[in-house]
Amino acid sequence: MSLDDHAEELASALGVDKQEVKDDLENLVQYSVPVEEAKSSLRRKYGDGSSQAGEPEPAAIGEVSTTDSAVTVTGRVLTVGKRSIRYQGRDSEIFEGELADEGGRISYTAWEDFDLGPGDTITAIGAGVREWEGNPELNLGSNTTIEKSEDSLEVPYEIGGEATLADLEPGDRGVAIEVKVSEVETKTIDGRDGETEILSGVLADESARLPFTDWAPHDTIEEGQSVRIENAYVREFRGAPSVNVSEFSVVTGSETAIDAEAGAPRYTIADAIESGGMFDVEVCANVLAVRDGSGLIQRCPECGRVVQKGQCRSHGSVDGVDDLRIKAILDDGTDAVTAILGAEITAAIYGGDINDAREQAREAMDQTVVAETISEEIVGREFRVRGTLSVDEYGANLNASAFDENDDDPAARARALLDRIAGGQEETGVAVEGSP
Ligand SMILES: [Zn+2]
Repeated sequence: MSLDDHAEELASALGVDKQEVKDDLENLVQYSVPVEEAKSSLRRKYGDGSSQAGEPEPAAIGEVSTTDSAVTVTGRVLTVGKRSIRYQGRDSEIFEGELADEGGRISYTAWEDFDLGPGDTITAIGAGVREWEGNPELNLGSNTTIEKSEDSLEVPYEIGGEATLADLEPGDRGVAIEVKVSEVETKTIDGRDGETEILSGVLADESARLPFTDWAPHDTIEEGQSVRIENAYVREFRGAPSVNVSEFSVVTGSETAIDAEAGAPRYTIADAIESGGMFDVEVCANVLAVRDGSGLIQRCPECGRVVQKGQCRSHGSVDGVDDLRIKAILDDGTDAVTAILGAEITAAIYGGDINDAREQAREAMDQTVVAETISEEIVGREFRVRGTLSVDEYGANLNASAFDENDDDPAARARALLDRIAGGQEETGVAVEGSP
């Protein structure tokens, strides 16, 4: 537990400014006062509001607000994830997950082992509240009393963290998944204990494909194997969720073979965006337009950003390096996304390489002709586009790994059907002619 975490817990429990508490803590610790003792003295200094004012009033989970300093809530433990953190060379274990009642759910962090298990119904008396990414989160620490109840509270949420890959979102903890190991490789990284081996690769189920990292390599994770992973957590990696497996995760062989195709699952654009980013997804949509910054472009040799009139936003005047790319607006009737196509796919669509593009631009004395040629090629046509979808405040981008004309679009099917019917009539005609 870092000093920052201690300050966070204490500030939240006492309802005082975190920086103030942190400054005081740093001072005390600097004079070799043990952290727990320093915390006790700060509790006395700021006055432990919860003990003086009695227990905080019971609150519904949905009503807990970031302006509360401490609350008493009753709820069902949905998930429990265990994680190790290190402060001053010492490891300690914390527990994280979600708690829910009939009307809401909330994340929690337990700084002590309260022996929480998924499905437990508990009352947390004097739970601190802190803000985490704009939402309230419960801090269960030394000022919190946990009472377990024999009666199970009915909640409208899944207990135990069972999820499909498509369900997962960055920040999820204590999740349980049944997946197929699609790709795996061993990597050596410079970890906090020196060089360490980790596993990294791709997991798949029927709903999605996601990258994963196993920080404490489990033997059961082998390419092609179906496995059940319990107590994993989810982080964001390049705009999409990534599964993290730790020393506390339990990995077992799955009894049922997971049905996961090598291809990416197909989604409507609206559903894909709704999921908040996908590592590998396929959409089928029309190209509405080719955006500015497509065709023949120049990149900064330092940072790779696209340069405008020889100017890089970070490096000023630079000698841009030619490149090919397309930013195409895709729309499938449910929503729109910008597909970003790299040099290889762009060259295939354009029907020429960078030299051909330079030549065309030189002849026209205008490099936008390259983007125009590309527009004529793809605008108004339907494509199957596979890639990594990232969603942020600026919109949704699909970084394409494959871009193919849709061969199963309704219009093509209709044409094929008409051709077959026409062909059939001719045959009938022939048969009639040939009959006596
Ligand atoms: Zn630059």
